Amino acid sequence: MSSWETNVRRVIPYVPGEQPKEANIIKLNTNENPYPPAPGVERALKELDTDRLRRYPDPAAEVLVSAIAKNYGLKKEQVFVGVGSDDVLAMCFLTFFNSKKPIFFPDITYSFYDVWANLFHIPYETQPLDDGFQIVKEDYYRENGGVVFPNPNAPTGELLPLWAVEEVLKHNPDVIVLVDEAYIDFGGASALPLIGRYENLLVVQTFSKSRSLAGMRIGYAMGSEKVIKYLNDVKYSFNSYTMNQTVLAAGVEAVRDESYFRKTCGKIIATRERVKRELRGLGFSFGDSKTNFLFVTHPDCPAKELFDALRREKIIVRYFNKSRIDNYLRITIGTDREMNALLAFLRNYLKERS
Ligand SMILES: *Cc1c(COP(=O)(O)O)cnc(C)c1O
Repeated sequence: MSSWETNVRRVIPYVPGEQPKEANIIKLNTNENPYPPAPGVERALKELDTDRLRRYPDPAAEVLVSAIAKNYGLKKEQVFVGVGSDDVLAMCFLTFFNSKKPIFFPDITYSFYDVWANLFHIPYETQPLDDGFQIVKEDYYRENGGVVFPNPNAPTGELLPLWAVEEVLKHNPDVIVLVDEAYIDFGGASALPLIGRYENLLVVQTFSKSRSLAGMRIGYAMGSEKVIKYLNDVKYSFNSYTMNQTVLAAGVEAVRDESYFRKTCGKIIATRERVKRELRGLGFSFGDSKTNFLFVTHPDCPAKELFDALRREKIIVRYFNKSRIDNYLRITIGTDREMNALLAFLRNYLKERS
């Protein structure tokens, strides 16, 4: 090892889902939205004044913060925006998880949490989901340095009811509780109504899934004015200009169009419920996902075998080679056509195999 290498910060990075370059792929592996963003987004991008790009963007991202605040009936001092919720969550870890006590999150969950904890030297302890992949809320009642969990959880798709989220809050008045609601728009009850009563609650959401803008990178946190102020102080100590002008213009249009948002979420929910019925008919089992993906297992066919067979067919789903979930596939809900292709292949494959 060269001597400079002894001073290199070594980390094991998060591995994002594959973004294939091949054509004619049915891509159901990263929970992207199969429908285009709101029509206003395209208009805003076409009307973009490139001369303005000479200037730095507004560091406070005021137009986007205001649009989000208005949409959820909040003050703009209660909204923080970042480069995808990954950026927002990382900023939350850095700002709020500075205790010597371990932060708590589920053993099966978004695989970025332990990466950030390691990156920021935050001690953590994972709490096992029960055999039905449910979060056991009582596990989070013990003393800790902070709590973070996705609701619905990923990659399981399981939703913790709002009353149970509130129980976790009631037992954790002394730490920040981060609820990562990346998938909440697909049928769950958001913890947002609780932010007025729990100053230590942060609700994090994203434009990547329900608003069809994964490529734009917009995430946001909502909470008390006090927690948002602390987040902004850390952000301004790191990078003042996280949101560029193009992102701001597109983001505003995506929040503004409530009816398009409702319509596309509704379509995905309807497709999801139909695919649940069909997969059940093929012998798969899975929980009652309230997200835009299903987490499925088959009693007769190993998940890895199915993953490889689907991959050869250019249908890409997500497989996690991790304990407890290595016999599961996470399948994003695509368009009805994409899901029909998936179902047709599975029907055939399972029949020929038996
Ligand atoms: C997709 C996802 C995110 C990150 O989304 P961004 O694209 O960074 O906004 C965060 N948490 C969970 C649980 C996710 O599934």
